[in-house]
Amino acid sequence: MKITTKCIHGSSKKYDTTGAVSVPIFQTATFTHPGVEQSTGYDYSRLQNPTREHLENLLATLEGGVDALAFSSGMSATSAFMEMFSPGDHIIASDDLYGGSIRLFEHISGKNGILVSFVNTSDIKQIENAMRLQTKAVFVETPTNPMLQVADIAAVARFASAHGILFAVDNTFLTPYFQQPLALGADVVIHSGTKYLGGHNDTLAGFLVTSRNDISEKLRFIQKTTGACLSPFDSWLLIRGIKTLAVRLRQQEKTALLLAKWLQSHPRVKAVHYIGLDSHPSYELSKTQASGFGGMISFNVENEAIARQILENVCLIGYAESLGGVETLITYPYLQTHADVPEEQRRAKGINKTLLRLSVGLEDANDLIEDLDKAFSP
Ligand SMILES: *Cc1c(COP(=O)(O)O)cnc(C)c1O
Repeated sequence: MKITTKCIHGSSKKYDTTGAVSVPIFQTATFTHPGVEQSTGYDYSRLQNPTREHLENLLATLEGGVDALAFSSGMSATSAFMEMFSPGDHIIASDDLYGGSIRLFEHISGKNGILVSFVNTSDIKQIENAMRLQTKAVFVETPTNPMLQVADIAAVARFASAHGILFAVDNTFLTPYFQQPLALGADVVIHSGTKYLGGHNDTLAGFLVTSRNDISEKLRFIQKTTGACLSPFDSWLLIRGIKTLAVRLRQQEKTALLLAKWLQSHPRVKAVHYIGLDSHPSYELSKTQASGFGGMISFNVENEAIARQILENVCLIGYAESLGGVETLITYPYLQTHADVPEEQRRAKGINKTLLRLSVGLEDANDLIEDLDKAFSP
C-alpha cells in the first residue's frame, strides 16, 4: 500500500459494528470490566482509548514503526522521551532546534542532571567530537528550525549504532510523507502533530514512534505514568487531518518552491533558506533521504525595519507562531519561537533581526505573492 493510501486506510481495526466510515470518538475516561480479572482490552483512557489507538496505529504504519504513542503536544512527547534518561546521562543534540526543545533541554533536563551538548548535526564530525563515555543518545531535528539545516540520517544512525546509543529524529518538518527516519536507522521519531499532521492550525498533539519493542515498552510505561496522552476528540481531529496529509504536502511544496524563487529574485531579500532550491547546501543530500522538500522557507531581508514592516503589513498571511497548517503563517524567530535562546547562540546560528520564517499553506500562490509584494512596499 502506498503512503497516500495509508494516510486514509493505514489503521484498519474496526471498533464498532455499524459500518461507520469514520472511527467513533470514544469520549470516555474509563471502561467497565466484564468480570473479575477480565478486561475488554481497555481499562482507563490514560492507558489506552480506541480512538487514540486508531491514530497511534496509523502513525506507526506511516513511519514504519512497531509502535506509536500520541501525546497532548509535541513538547509533552519530547518530555516523555527525555524520561528515558537518568542523572549523569549526556545527550548530543542539534544546535538549531525548535526553541521549546532548547528550553526543555537547558532548563528541565539540565535541572534533572541530564547534560545536553548542542552541535551542528549537519556535520557528522561535530557529533563524533561531542561523544563522551556518558553519552546515551543523539537527538536531531532535520531539517532544522528555523535555519533548515539537514543531517545525514543514515550516517548518524551508523554512528549511534556503532556506539550503542539511541538515535532520535524530530520529523515534524517533512513528516513521514516525505521522510521516514526509522527506515534509515533511527530508533525514535518525534513529532509535533500540531503542525503538518493535524494540518489545520486547530489542535495540539505530539507523537513518539519507535522501531524497537524494548523502547516501546519503556515509553508506554512512561506515558501511562506521567499521563500527557492525547484526548479522544483531539485524536479524532488528527485522524481526520492525516487523511489529507499527502495532497496537502504535495501542494504546499509546489507553492513553497514558487515563493522561494520569487523571494530569491526580490531585491530586498539577502538570502533564502529552502531545501528545495538547488543552491541549498543540502539539496543533493535531501534528494537521497527524503522524497520531497516540504513547505518551510526562512529568508533574510535587508534590515530589521523591513522585517518589521513585512510582519505588520501582511494581510492574507498571518503573523503567528506555528507552522504546517492550511493557513500561510509568517514568524519572527528572533522574537517568537527562539526568544528564549541566549543571544550569542542565536547570533551563531544566524537567528537575527532580519530573519523571517514562512510556513506555506494552501492558498493560491499568486495571492500569497501579491500579499508579500504589498508588505515589501506598502
Ligand atoms: C512546534 C514544534 C515542536 C513542539 O510541538 P508543540 O506541539 O508545539 O508542543 C517540536 N519540534 C518542532 C520541530 C516544532 O516545530
